[in-house]
Order: sequence, then C-alpha cells, then structure tokens
Amino acid sequence: MLEHMGDWKRTDYCGSLRAEDIGREVILMGWVQSNRDHGGVIFVDMRDREGIVQVVFNPQTNREIHEKASALRDEWVIAVSGRVTNRSPETINPNLPTGEIEVIAGDFRILNTSKPLPFLIENEIKVDELLRLKHRYLDLRRPHMKDKIITRHKVVSATRNYLNGEGFIEVETPYLTRSTPEGARDFLVPSRLNPGEFYALPQSPQLLKQTLMISGLDRYYQIVRCFRDEDLRADRQPEFTQIDLEMSYVNEDDIMTVVEGILKSIFKEAKGMDIPTPFKRMKHEEAMLRYGSDKPDTRFGLELEDVTNIFRESGFQVFSGAVKKGGIIKALRLKGKAGELSRKELDDLGETAKSLGARGLAWIRVSGGEWQSPIIKFLSDKEKEELQQRLALEDGDIVFFGADTPYIVNMVLSHLRLELGERLGIIDHTRFDFLWVEDFPLLDYDHNEKRYVAMHHPFTSPREEDLHLLDDEAGKVASRAYDVVLNGVEIGGGSIRIYRKDIQEKIFHAIGLTAEQATEKFGFLLEALEFGAPPHGGIALGLDRIVMLITGANSIRDVIAFPKTQKGACPLTEAPSAVEPGQLLELGLKLDVKNKDK
Ligand code: ASP
Repeated sequence: MLEHMGDWKRTDYCGSLRAEDIGREVILMGWVQSNRDHGGVIFVDMRDREGIVQVVFNPQTNREIHEKASALRDEWVIAVSGRVTNRSPETINPNLPTGEIEVIAGDFRILNTSKPLPFLIENEIKVDELLRLKHRYLDLRRPHMKDKIITRHKVVSATRNYLNGEGFIEVETPYLTRSTPEGARDFLVPSRLNPGEFYALPQSPQLLKQTLMISGLDRYYQIVRCFRDEDLRADRQPEFTQIDLEMSYVNEDDIMTVVEGILKSIFKEAKGMDIPTPFKRMKHEEAMLRYGSDKPDTRFGLELEDVTNIFRESGFQVFSGAVKKGGIIKALRLKGKAGELSRKELDDLGETAKSLGARGLAWIRVSGGEWQSPIIKFLSDKEKEELQQRLALEDGDIVFFGADTPYIVNMVLSHLRLELGERLGIIDHTRFDFLWVEDFPLLDYDHNEKRYVAMHHPFTSPREEDLHLLDDEAGKVASRAYDVVLNGVEIGGGSIRIYRKDIQEKIFHAIGLTAEQATEKFGFLLEALEFGAPPHGGIALGLDRIVMLITGANSIRDVIAFPKTQKGACPLTEAPSAVEPGQLLELGLKLDVKNKDK
C-alpha cells in the first residue's frame, strides 16, 4: 500500500493556505490529524508544521482515491495533490486560520503508516510527562509544544540579530575544558590521551570570555550550553543555555542598556510586544527589605515591613528572643483579605512556614474592630499602638510575622508573599515586570565552611570605595554585580570584573584561597591579567527561563527539545547508560558503584 513521493514536490505548507490561494493546484505533505466520513465524503484534517487544512475526498470527483482514503488512520503520512477551493458559507471554520478554504484531492499517495499512538496529538492532554518524554517526537508534534520550540528559535535569532547589529562578535569556547568556578558540581569527562586526567564541561565560559577581552575582541557573545551537575529543581536542567556576553571599557549602565536592547528585540520578535525600557532598578538591600528576596516579583504589592524595633523588648519571648540572638522581625500585611483565608488555610500557611525552617507563623487578624490572635495576650498596649501606627491596620486586614535570623525571616515571608499572591489572585499574569537588582554584597559568609564565599563569582569587582573594608569587614564590601529579574524569576546576572592582578589576588585571599591554590585553579587568568587587561564586564541571560516566561510554560523542560528528567535521565535516548568494559579499560577507569539502584 505504501508509495514513494516520486517526482512530487511540495508546493505549500498545509497551514499556510488562505483564501488568496483559491483556484491553485497544490501538492501538500503531512500527517493525518483526523479522518471523518460524512455521508460518503471523506474529510481529512491534514497537518504539518504550519497548521491544519481540510482535504476532501469526494467519490463523485474520484471514486478510486476516495476508496483508498477510507483506509487512512491517524498520523499516517500522506502526499496530496489537489485544488484549493472556497468552503460554502455554512462550513467556514472561523477558529482555523485555513478555515475559509479546503483542498479537493485529485490524487494522493500514502507515504507511511503509524502504529496506534500512546497519546493524542492535541494540545490539552493529560499524560504522564515520562511518556511524553519517551515519545518526544510525538509530543513535539502537538501544536503548543512545537510553537514553544519555534518561539525559542525566534528568541535566539532576535538575540543574534540585535547583538550583531551592536558590533558583538560571536565566539565559540570549548566544551572540553577545565573545571570552572561557578560553584556547582562539574560534569567530568575522562581523557583517554591523558590517563587519570579529566576535562570538565563548562559551568559557564566565564574565564574564557574574560580572556577574550584581554585578546582585544572588545565585544563578545555566545549562545552557549552550560553544564552543572546539581540536584534538579523545578526550573533547573543539567545542561541549559545562556546568552553570554562580555564587553570592554564599560560600566554597569552600558551592560544594562545592551541587555534591555536584547530583551526588547526578543519580546518584539517572539511575542509582538513592546516592552518599556529602561527597566526599574533597585538596590539589593532595598529588595531584601521590602520583598525579602533578591528577585522580587514586582507585579503586586504585599510588601514586608521591618518591625524589629517595636518588639525588641517584647514580653512575647518568640519575638524578643529572636532579636536578642541577632535576628529580625518582619510583618506581611494582607489588606482587607482576612475573610478570604479560612482557619484551615491559616494552619496550612503555618505548616508551610515550618517546612521552610520557621518555628511557627504568628498572625493577627482585625475583625469588627477587634484584634484576634493567639499571640495578642503577650503584646503590650504600646507595642499594639506602634504596630497600628506602622501598618495602619483596618478591619479585614491580617498580618503575618516572621521572627528569626534575617535569612529565615526573608526566605519564609518572601515565599508566603508569593503563595498568598497566587492564592488570592492578586498577581496580574498578563504583566511582564522587569527589574534590575544592583549593588549586591561582594561576599557571603558560609557558616558551614566558616569562610567568605563570592556571592556572584570571585571575578566580580568590588566597589572601589569599599576596598579598604576587605581585611576587617569583608561582609560589608559592595560589589558591582547586577541581576535582571522578570516577574520574580532571575533571568540573568553579571558584573563589572576585576581587571587588575593585585585586586584579584586580594579577593582570592578574602575567600580563603592561598596563593598556591589561586595559581593552581586560575593561574592562566592571573597571568593574563598581567598583560594589559582592559577594564571589562558582562552578563549571562538564561535563555530557557526567558522562553519559559514568554511562552507561559510551566517548566523549562517544556521549552527544551530534549530535556532531562528530575533524575538527569533522557527517557528517549535512555542516557545516561552503562558502557562497554573495553571503553573503560581504554580510559584507565574501573567502576566501584555502590547502591546503583538508589
Ligand atoms: N558567568 C556568570 C554566570 O553564569 C555570568 C556572568 O558573570 O557573566 O552566572
């Protein structure tokens, strides 16, 4: 029954035909989406990349091919030669871009058949993601999925066009490289030619892009795969793509202008949307104070208030005790929404707070002029009065409190803020809110390792005026790092870099690296900095996250053609897999794998 394409050449995409094409003879190739027999006439919805068109097999026009068409099943591949005609007014389908026309088949060929499908090629299906990933080729035939991949292409092409126009040069950096310092675990590749030695897949091209500035390339970019061997969370993948760039002789404003330009063209190209620039800017300190997060979702209010001072001496031990231990107290006020939260929901929120590390979640509700709360009996009149003044509480309001270390309070309340925003429907999901967060601290104290670590990475320049703090108050040094945030998702981060060897050495020292360790890890950079390194800075944008936000996808897995599962596996290719013993021998490797199935 199968036939060849023979000398048939496709003239058009199914989904591209319009009323202007009426009267044309066309040849189409594509899949049978569905096949209906209406009173002897067979209607086939034929699908290709561009969409669907209705093909009509009429026994009165051609008895033979009508009979052949009755054998067609879903997802068979066919070639149709026919004439585009108008549909009668009552059969026009306004929901279909090709809905004004249909193709009357004159001849057709069956190019391939298909087994019955594991799931339907439709947008709305309820299917286990593992099954979708195993049959990714079918999953990507679904219009919504295919459109996401096409949007991704548009995002990449808008980025390239914009940066090429701005004088950037695209340079590829190696995937087989040395361990790079972004702080995650490396993927290692054993070297056959150098037994016992390993390449690392790059976590980012950070050092090499800086090296390219020292080479004089001046403006570099690359749309580049990066690899980090982390436990996978919802929006992480072991390999992901960055729009990576670096520029010489620039300050923060110059980088921000370029990034705003890239995002403006991306949104225009991929979503037909004009986004206003320049973006708002907020200092890291302010973001933490008002939102408890360095990537605040600014599409809605619900800001936090620091009320530490009010409860410093409180009779309520949970509050005053936290302050005595160096902690803080913050309040999150929901205006007029108290009635929308049931007691059960309040308990659930308390449980969420506990699961995030809080000891509990104190709250006060104002109803009928009364303050209701399990903690009210512990508060003095003065405390209540000051709280009233600070938060202007009114009937129907509810306030939640966090009292703990700044880290826990901010983490818990920022999480609750987002959860309440969603739950109460106060987030405008049609909005795209961009924000620059700047002036991050340079260093963060790691209590486990008992040393400072770089908040961004150790090549980030400190603010010059803070350099003198490095020895005694390193935690107070501000950096020249910046993040770009969209709707509460960090979509990029970068910094103005250190370009002088003496300062770079100081920072290595501040994060506890000895001179020998610094040379062992980053010797080539330190050496290059001695050969006329120009001032430079850059940023990397997360391509997958940008496409996820533009397409409204729930996960970055939906915008990557062949993503990995939470366990880092690809159900389609079944990577990772065992290898032949001979391959290991060649690499000088012996396996010692315990608990393989855990
Ligand atoms: N390499 C950094 C990162 O991947 C970005 C940058 O500083 O340009 O986060």
